[in-house]
Amino acid sequence: MTAPTSRVQPIDPATVRGDFPVLARQVHGKPLTYLDSANTGQTPNAVIEAVDSYYRQFNANVARAVHQLGDEATTAYEGARDKLAAFIGANTREELVFTSGTTQAINLVAYSYALPHLKPGDAILVTQMEHHANIVPWQLVCERTGATLKVAPITESGELIVDEFVKALTPEVKLAAFTHVSNVLGTVNPVRELAKACRQRGIASLIDGSQAAPHLPLDVKAIGCDFYAITGHKMAGPTGTGVLWARREHLDAMPPFFGGGEMIREVSFEGTTFADPPHKFEAGTPNISGFVGLGAAVDYLTGLGMERIAATEQELLAYATEKLSAVPGLRIFGTAPHKAAVISFLIEGAHAHDLATMLDLQGVAVRSGHHCAHPLMQFYGVPATVRASLAFYNTPEEVDRFIEALATVRKLLM
Ligand code: PLP
Repeated sequence: MTAPTSRVQPIDPATVRGDFPVLARQVHGKPLTYLDSANTGQTPNAVIEAVDSYYRQFNANVARAVHQLGDEATTAYEGARDKLAAFIGANTREELVFTSGTTQAINLVAYSYALPHLKPGDAILVTQMEHHANIVPWQLVCERTGATLKVAPITESGELIVDEFVKALTPEVKLAAFTHVSNVLGTVNPVRELAKACRQRGIASLIDGSQAAPHLPLDVKAIGCDFYAITGHKMAGPTGTGVLWARREHLDAMPPFFGGGEMIREVSFEGTTFADPPHKFEAGTPNISGFVGLGAAVDYLTGLGMERIAATEQELLAYATEKLSAVPGLRIFGTAPHKAAVISFLIEGAHAHDLATMLDLQGVAVRSGHHCAHPLMQFYGVPATVRASLAFYNTPEEVDRFIEALATVRKLLM
């Protein structure tokens, strides 16, 4: 991955697996082998207990109550913002807008930043490897403004062609939106270099960090982008939580996306003035318990150490890649030298969904399908792949179980 990982001590999965109750369960009478963390990561007890304690002990709305419970809820909710700000290397807590996930974060930028900025003839640059969440909002904005979408190409091995990306940063491009880590290929993009190229040309950059935040140390300041989006449920947190980090000057200039309670300073029938960022973008009662849980998730990941998480996952990735490469007829999609622990593959003569369904019967949970990346599937000329995605709580023994299950399934399908 991007950070040097060899100096740090990998995590012994035996010391953390007990933190994740779901990992102890069985499916179809077999021990669960959960290899779908790129889809949704599993949740440690610390997070489950934080959510539980919110409802049991201080369930109240944030910001508007003067009573003790409201104060405790607000402290925990806003405390999560401090933790997340430190986790991603933000300058200030005010640069973090809480959202329901990456999808909402990107839509917020699309409607509050891009929509007012774009005019006919302008363009937004994305890459061939984007998730639909980093394509469709831009298409919707392009339709409304007359701007167009440009696409930076990738190689067959699943690497962004950086020279082509830079060449595509022409004067009509007003925003470039690219993923930090591909959810299908695992490719880790050189985001500092890409953000720098954008900045040098006065082009705003948005990074989809959904698959990076759970797996590698982050520093948005060092990356030098304008916007960075993450989603909580992939980083040990509850579903329905996410963060948009943005430079303060953008948040100050952007109009609100949703209107309602919590985001105002003063309302009259003549007009409304808005709260300062980030609250200007957080209309209505937020997912309080979710963010209390996400704060606990950040504590958990930080306690383990992101460098150690990255090192552990790199070892597992190397082991799984070696084992999978020996399976006859198996093709891996995404072989970039810098990749996260995501392995997409197909086996000659077998459908992705059949493989995944039969692996499930062996207790192995993988994802099959287009992974919300139709254009990437079109690039490879396949309708779907199987994707095994690993996390620090997976073990080499689970990889072995997966490979054995795959051998059984292969025999049945061939
Ligand atoms: N971007 C990437 C790269 C993803 O992998 C995902 C989730 O699969 C998303 C965006 C969307 O995240 P969410 O559905 O949590 O908003």
